Amino acid sequence: MIDPDLLSRLRQQDIAPRKMLIGKDWCPSSTGETIEVISPIDGRPLTTIARGSARDIDAAVAAARRCFEAGTWSRRAPAERKKVLLRLADLLEQNAQELAVLGIRDNGTEVGMALKAEPLGAAATFRYYAEAIDKVYGEIAPTASSALGLIHREPVGVVGAIVPWNMPLMIGAWKLAPALAQGNSVVLKPAEAASLSLLRLAELALEAGLPEGALNVVTGAGAVVGEALATHMDVEVLAFTGSNVVGRRLLEYAARSNLKRVYLELGGKSPNIVFADAPDLEIAAKAAANAIFRNSGQVCVAGSRLLVESSIRDSFLDRLVEITAKLRVGDPLDAQNDIGAVISEQQLSQNLGHIARAVNEGGELLFGGERLLQETGGFYQRPAIVTGITPNMALAREEVFGPVLAVMSFDSEAEAVALANATEYGLAAGVWTRDLSRAHRMVRSVRAGLVHVNTYGGSDLTVPLGGHGQSGNGHDKSLHALDKYTNLKSAWIQL
Ligand code: NAD
Repeated sequence: MIDPDLLSRLRQQDIAPRKMLIGKDWCPSSTGETIEVISPIDGRPLTTIARGSARDIDAAVAAARRCFEAGTWSRRAPAERKKVLLRLADLLEQNAQELAVLGIRDNGTEVGMALKAEPLGAAATFRYYAEAIDKVYGEIAPTASSALGLIHREPVGVVGAIVPWNMPLMIGAWKLAPALAQGNSVVLKPAEAASLSLLRLAELALEAGLPEGALNVVTGAGAVVGEALATHMDVEVLAFTGSNVVGRRLLEYAARSNLKRVYLELGGKSPNIVFADAPDLEIAAKAAANAIFRNSGQVCVAGSRLLVESSIRDSFLDRLVEITAKLRVGDPLDAQNDIGAVISEQQLSQNLGHIARAVNEGGELLFGGERLLQETGGFYQRPAIVTGITPNMALAREEVFGPVLAVMSFDSEAEAVALANATEYGLAAGVWTRDLSRAHRMVRSVRAGLVHVNTYGGSDLTVPLGGHGQSGNGHDKSLHALDKYTNLKSAWIQL
């Protein structure tokens, strides 16, 4: 909950034009160009960010490399790095309300979700990896007694991180915290549509004592600064969260530059599968609405396909419509609203286009799907429920990344599995059943990096999040994420 006085002050506050962090300096773009930031709350300009260039990326990577080679961060004892990252976690918490409002004005996420997941989620992530880093040991290999085999984990050097506009602080922290904890230097490229809170995080990182060059932030267009970072010859690892289209490009960029390791966390078309024996159908219906409609569906693991057993289909949909009709859409800074704004005019018209196409292909718009509150100038949409979807229709296969639910039904467990796996994606899934054996069978058979059982969402930092199929090849969260940012080095010592 944000203090109401603070909120009314922060929501009016002018935001000064933002520069980029390269080394210890806050710099404009080398070209002097800027990008106007539009708030999805009212469609009005909020401020500007620097439109970075390939030259800015060169400067940022050079600063990151200098820091790495100087050892001011990379060779600090893990317990010392831990202190700095814990201070950063504290600062994120102390500034949580201000950071949440800044982020919401930038990307429109509803305040309840934004406060918890963004500054507080980022703080928890920095704390998790800070606490981990002085407890992770190397290995001694099981050699014959005539030799000693040591297995070290070394930081890779310079890490490039490219992140999307939904949940920028949380997803940014999922990459920055393990990469920095391991002693790497990072060049971060936030999304054009949501850079402000990550720029503020960088200020707090300097305040926490992160040495110059350990974290650099270059803002700007993906096709310019993103490409320059991904093709850079001095970046060893690229960690990316975003769309499959861009993910594919990054693999090409790596192949034509220095074969850097590329970790992709991509999109999804996640099935939420409700069997007739779900423990509580009311809870399942609420969760199904929440799984696709919170943050206007702009959640990578959104349960965007509802697969419901035929015998309960009609009654379950009645419940779902009733619940969805009560969801309030509007100003994301108003805690009374359940759903905030869609990121942009363009995304909103794409969402509406997906609905129109589904109806054209034979689907039925059971609820919602229209633009709302146009008079505010902002980008709002009523959640849409589309039934009659078959596996070959676009809405069954393509990620919308908006509040649009595709509904299908099934008659058997085997059919549910076949429908669930009938997309190129494999990010997340939900299964609702009180049959323990069936739950375990479904966990094994559904192609997804994360399967929820009798819930949807809410997994914490202790479990990895990553895609199967074309949802990616890397994992954020948990101790496994540390592996992405290290090289294994073996030493063979003859005794
Ligand atoms: P996007 O792929 O358009 O952009 C992501 C980032 O890539 C941005 O910073 C963008 O500027 C940059 N970029 C764009 N073109 C580039 C290029 N040619 N070279 C290098 N970088 C480039 O994605 P988005 O619209 O910001 O985010 C939505 C997507 O992210 C959805 O597909 C969603 O599912 C996915 N996502 C996945 C996860 C996950 O954990 N798997 C989490 C959140 C979002």
